[in-house]
Amino acid sequence: MTGVDTATASHVAHNYHPLPVVLATGEGAWVTDVEGKRYLDMLAGYSALNFGHRHPKLVAAAQEQLERITLTSRAFENERLEAFATALADLCGKDLVLPMNTGAEAVETGIKVARAWGYRVKGIAEGRAKIVVAHGNFHGRTTTIVGFSDDPEAHDGFGPYAPGFVAVPFGDADALAAAIDDDTAAVLIEPIQGEAGVVIPEDGYLRRVREITRERNVLFIADEIQSGLGRVGETFACDREGVVPDVYLLGKALGGGILPVSAVVADADVLGVIRPGEHGSTFGGNPLSAAVAHRVVELLATGEFQKRAQLLGDHLREKLEGFLGNGVTAIRVAGLWAGIDIDPAVGTGREVAEALMARGVLVKDTHGQTIRMAPPLVVRATELDWALEQLHVVLGR
Ligand code: PLP
Repeated sequence: MTGVDTATASHVAHNYHPLPVVLATGEGAWVTDVEGKRYLDMLAGYSALNFGHRHPKLVAAAQEQLERITLTSRAFENERLEAFATALADLCGKDLVLPMNTGAEAVETGIKVARAWGYRVKGIAEGRAKIVVAHGNFHGRTTTIVGFSDDPEAHDGFGPYAPGFVAVPFGDADALAAAIDDDTAAVLIEPIQGEAGVVIPEDGYLRRVREITRERNVLFIADEIQSGLGRVGETFACDREGVVPDVYLLGKALGGGILPVSAVVADADVLGVIRPGEHGSTFGGNPLSAAVAHRVVELLATGEFQKRAQLLGDHLREKLEGFLGNGVTAIRVAGLWAGIDIDPAVGTGREVAEALMARGVLVKDTHGQTIRMAPPLVVRATELDWALEQLHVVLGR
């Protein structure tokens, strides 16, 4: 052994620094710890729980499918995948869906699709394809993805890094245009940067990215893994500017908070470049995931959750504005998604998160001074008000 006291120490690898709460049950926007104390979940699994914990329709879809078949692999067809893909393609206004599991896998898939498209359609010389990304990005934790992250914690010490990525400032369309050359296959951005602290680009940026990529024959890949599927008050964050990217990367809420489900969604002239045998996943597109994700798409197709996020988001923004100068130095709000910068005079983001936890509100800090609020879209206005009262107390005003 290595000096770890195995009688008392955790056997969980220390790759996270969780808040000290042990959750046992969840329903809607609320969770309960092992001692029976209730908390309002204002993080929602980093937006994987947009529909709340154990949404009855999603649990029913999972249970029904558990009684039939759960895994087939893609060596065979399964009776759920086609219907799910059709519904998701329809929601996105695209032709094809490539199902994976985690967000990082969807991003990796998007990178492969972009390179294959670059070589086979655009005519880039083999091995030269480039992808333009944004500073401050967060696209996941695989070795290729962390290679083009500029967050030292995510990036440093995990090289050698994959070549083929160029980073430009987020929100700067001129810099993006200048970084594109004949070898550029794609631009890959989050329309709103979540992990960076809900960083919202100026209105017009996404439209310019769309224009530039179209003019220069470059794919626009939108990583909507955290921003998409209702969170911002629209189905996609790109909808805020009326923009349709070439490729959507989806994940998190697609699995309804039950299973990891991700997808790459694009038209046939893009996603059709991937041929049988070139890409896949043992679990991607399995019938259990497809059954749950299909129900997720049906919930989104009603528009109800987007509407809730919009109305409650306006309410949240209005209330948060009152905190500016009172323990809060800046807020960024898009739908039911807020980045709140805490005045260092009050404490760190972590300290505020711990104090909120003690008062029954769960949030998570990011990048030192920021806390993020992203409650399930089923939360009530009165519950939001209560959570903000707790924040008021914690900030000491
Ligand atoms: N892309 C974005 C925008 C994300 O926010 C995340 C996770 O936070 C990912 C990709 C990675 O998703 P996963 O953790 O499921 O691999």
